[in-house]
Amino acid sequence: MTAEEAIQIIKFYTGNTYKPEKIQEAINMSIKALERHVPKKDNFRIEISGKPHMPCPNCGKCIELNKNGVVYCDNCGQAILDD
Ligand SMILES: [Zn+2]
Repeated sequence: MTAEEAIQIIKFYTGNTYKPEKIQEAINMSIKALERHVPKKDNFRIEISGKPHMPCPNCGKCIELNKNGVVYCDNCGQAILDD
C-alpha cells in the first residue's frame, strides 16, 4: 500500500463520524506524516555554488538536489520527486 492509498483510506473511514478530540488529533497527525511521504514535484531550481537547489514545497527550506529520483527535505522530511 502506498502512502497516498493509506491517506485516502484513513480519510474515507474517519471523515464523517464523531471522534473524541485526542483521536481526531492523532488521525490528523498520521495523515500529515503520510502526506510527507508522497513525493511532491519540484517546480524550479536555483544554482548555489554550482549545485542545484530548490525550496521545499512543504516548509520552504532550500534543499540541495544531488541525485535524480526521490530526495527528502532534511528539515521537515517531505519527499520530493527530482526528475
Ligand atoms: Zn521541508
